[in-house]
Amino acid sequence: MKSPAFDYIRARSVAHALETYRSLDGEGVYLAGGHSVVPSLTLRLQAPAALIDLSGIDALTGISLDDGWLRIGAMTRHAEVAADPMIRDHAHLFHLAAPHVAHPAIRNRGTIGGSLSLADPASEFPAVALALRAEMEVAGHDGVRRVKADDFFLDIYETAMDPGEILQAILVPPVRAGDVAVFDELARRRGDYAMVGAAVQAMVDAGRVADISIAFFSVGNKPTRAGAAESALRGARLDDATIAAAQSALDADLDPSDEPQMPASVRRHLARVLLGRLLGHLGTTA
Ligand SMILES: Cc1cc2nc3c(=O)[nH]c(=O)nc-3n(C[C@H](O)[C@H](O)[C@H](O)COP(=O)(O)OP(=O)(O)OC[C@H]3O[C@@H](n4cnc5c(N)ncnc54)[C@H](O)[C@@H]3O)c2cc1C
Repeated sequence: MKSPAFDYIRARSVAHALETYRSLDGEGVYLAGGHSVVPSLTLRLQAPAALIDLSGIDALTGISLDDGWLRIGAMTRHAEVAADPMIRDHAHLFHLAAPHVAHPAIRNRGTIGGSLSLADPASEFPAVALALRAEMEVAGHDGVRRVKADDFFLDIYETAMDPGEILQAILVPPVRAGDVAVFDELARRRGDYAMVGAAVQAMVDAGRVADISIAFFSVGNKPTRAGAAESALRGARLDDATIAAAQSALDADLDPSDEPQMPASVRRHLARVLLGRLLGHLGTTA
C-alpha cells in the first residue's frame, strides 16, 4: 500500500516545530527516524496533513555531560547509542540494549527520542530509561519541563507528553561507584521484538544488593518496574534463595494478558527465567 498524500515541513528549531504543529490544528505528525511513522502511513493507520521533520534541529542532537548527568539528544540514532563511548560509560544499559533493537538498517535511522515518544511496550529503550531512572526533557509552548521515566510511560503508545510537545533529550543520572548493568531479552529470532525483556541496574556493595531497579518490557501495556522483586533483593546477598524469592515476587509485579500467540502464564514463566538469568549474571559481574 502507498501512504496518503501529505505535506513535508523541515523544522528549523524546536520553536518552529511547536508553532508548525499548532498551525496544523492536530493534523501534523513529527518525523524523527521515520521507522515507525512511515510504516504506519503506508499501512494507512494514520493520514496526517503534514510531517514535521525534526532531523534538522540542532537542539535535539548531541551527547554531553553536565554535572554528572548524561544528556542524550532525542535525535541520537540507535546505532550511535550502541557505539558512543559516553553512553557506554555513563548510561551502560542503553549501550547494552541498542544491539537488540531491530536490525542494522533500522538502527541507522531510528532515534532514541522516537522510540521513547512512541512508547511501544515491546521496545527496549523505554524499559532502559525506567531502570536508569532517567528523566525526559520535554519542550512545549509553556517552556521546558523534566518528567521522570517512572511518570512518563502511561499506557500502550501513551506518554505524559501533551499533543504537540517535543521530547528534546534524555537525562541519565550520574553513575555511582559499584553500579552494574545487565540486559537481556528472549526473542524468537535476533532482531525480532522480544517475547520478554528486562533491564537491570544495581549497586552491589560487599556482595549485597545496596540498590536495584528492574524494568521489564513486552509483559504488559507499558514498560514495568518490578518493585516487589526489587524489594526482595534490596539489602540481600545474591544467592540462590534470594534470586528465587525475587522470581516469585514477579507475580505481584507483572500482569501480562492472554494473547493468541502467547498465554499470560508462558510470559510470566519466561519473565522468571529471564530474571534468574540476569541476576545470576549480576552476581558474576559485580
Ligand atoms: C522492521 C522493524 C523492526 C523493529 N524492531 C524494533 C525492535 O526490536 N525494538 C524497538 O524498540 N523498535 C523496533 N522498531 C522500531 C524502531 O526502533 C523505530 O525507529 C522507533 O521505535 C521509532 O523511532 P524513529 O526515530 O524511527 O521515530 P519515528 O517513526 O519518526 O516517530 C515515532 C513516533 O514518535 C514521535 N516522535 C518522534 N520523535 C519525537 C520527539 N523527539 N518528540 C516527540 N515526538 C516524537 C513521532 O511523531 C511518531 O509518533 C522496529 C521497526 C521496524 C520497521
